[in-house]
Amino acid sequence: MMMHSPGTFWSAGTQNATDLLPSYEEPNGFGANGTQRLYADMIGKENHNRMNNPNNLKQKLCDYVMEERNSLYAFGEDIFLHPELGYREHRTHRKLQEALLGIGVTDMATWGLTGIKAWLPGAKDPRLPNIAILGEMDAVVSPNHPQADPVTGAAHACGHHAGLTAMLGAGMALSKALPELAGNICLIAAPAEEYVEIDYRRSLLASGKIRYLGGKQQLISEGCFDDIHIAMMVHALSDSPVSQVCVSSTAGGFIGKSVRFKGQEAHAGGAPHLGVNALNAASAALMCIHALRETFRDEDHVRIHPIITKGGDMVNTVPADVRMESYVRAASLDAMADANAKVNRAIRGASYALGAESEIEDLPGYLPLEEARALSQIFADNAALLFPEASVSWNRPFCGSTDMGDLSYIMPVIQPTVSGFAGALHSKDFRVTDPRMAYLAPAVLMAATTADLLADGAQRAAALLRDFASKDKGQYDHLWQEFLSPCPEKNGSNI
Ligand SMILES: [Zn+2]
Ligand SMILES: [Zn+2]
Repeated sequence: MMMHSPGTFWSAGTQNATDLLPSYEEPNGFGANGTQRLYADMIGKENHNRMNNPNNLKQKLCDYVMEERNSLYAFGEDIFLHPELGYREHRTHRKLQEALLGIGVTDMATWGLTGIKAWLPGAKDPRLPNIAILGEMDAVVSPNHPQADPVTGAAHACGHHAGLTAMLGAGMALSKALPELAGNICLIAAPAEEYVEIDYRRSLLASGKIRYLGGKQQLISEGCFDDIHIAMMVHALSDSPVSQVCVSSTAGGFIGKSVRFKGQEAHAGGAPHLGVNALNAASAALMCIHALRETFRDEDHVRIHPIITKGGDMVNTVPADVRMESYVRAASLDAMADANAKVNRAIRGASYALGAESEIEDLPGYLPLEEARALSQIFADNAALLFPEASVSWNRPFCGSTDMGDLSYIMPVIQPTVSGFAGALHSKDFRVTDPRMAYLAPAVLMAATTADLLADGAQRAAALLRDFASKDKGQYDHLWQEFLSPCPEKNGSNI
């Protein structure tokens, strides 16, 4: 359970705040000179003022990241050049393991087939809050990307290599500052954020290797987050040549869908009248889904984007086995359920019209993302302080989805987006154009945000948790079971 009440871990920390934070000073000690120094370092200006207070914790965190910038760049570029798809990130796992050993982590373990959880060095104090800094390991399928893997078509066109590097950088900096912080910090590299290769993942489900298709979902269900109270990560901002930071964005949830249209094989030229064309059933289903789009409300941000993953077996045989995958996305659980029922009705109705059968499997997709506002505020304040050249924007809607949404159901989380990239996410043009913003700025910002949470006896972490009704993994599992159980199509029944 992740329910905590005042008087458990942070009460002792509060009493000992002075001991725990001997050199920390409030932001009024972190004045204009410090800001100029950080700004100057990050944008490469040579002439700048030295800051007045060398003990300032955020200044030190920034210095630690800057000192390691070349090794962080090298790590990020290496991951970029070796993209791997979800639940197959074996090389990435190995490289990250080596890097984490280099910063002296303890209790490093594998979670979710290829994920890693590791604690920053030092004895863990069970009275203090546990903060997780997350990174993502997987690439997307983007075979036309210039750095795509020639065999798998995988490419880091969603920038997860940069977020993973930022996690490493933040962990490295914080590992040197731990004695000044009232909390325990762990790094979690999550696999399989991209919800792709559904057939492959269903085979992992069938063999009992995973319980959820999404990496963080799987980590939740394995108990990886059972001892974590607050989590944060940073994601790449799509097509962002100008320095900027976006906080408190929303993201929709979705239901994953795998459909099999079953017809009757027959000679396509000689005896099509003896066949039942499953591809025609699938085509009709697509048209019915398109016809439903006018029924969706703008505010629900419904997105349905099916693909045919198998269109038949050979051109001279009436297709009898056609496969389709889709997401049914929307801004809320209610809207997801409503749209999903309509889509399933369209698939069943189209199949009936053509005399085919359809097997629909609805799978847990991702939950809508709800970021913790107070935590977003801390991150935004740090962005304004440390990167004054970057604009900070709030509440930008994002109609994509992320398994951070699932994590946001059980604990306070943030997933701000930071610039430094050209090209749209998931496109062949996506690449890092400003390595300082892409790799270093998120590391500094997550380290500074963690420092704020754990300063002064972790008062801000405590306040955040008091305002959040945390859930455990049992409640999480139950939510998805309940949510999908009303769908009769789940077990493949037809009309
Ligand atoms: Zn993506
Ligand atoms: Zn992504």
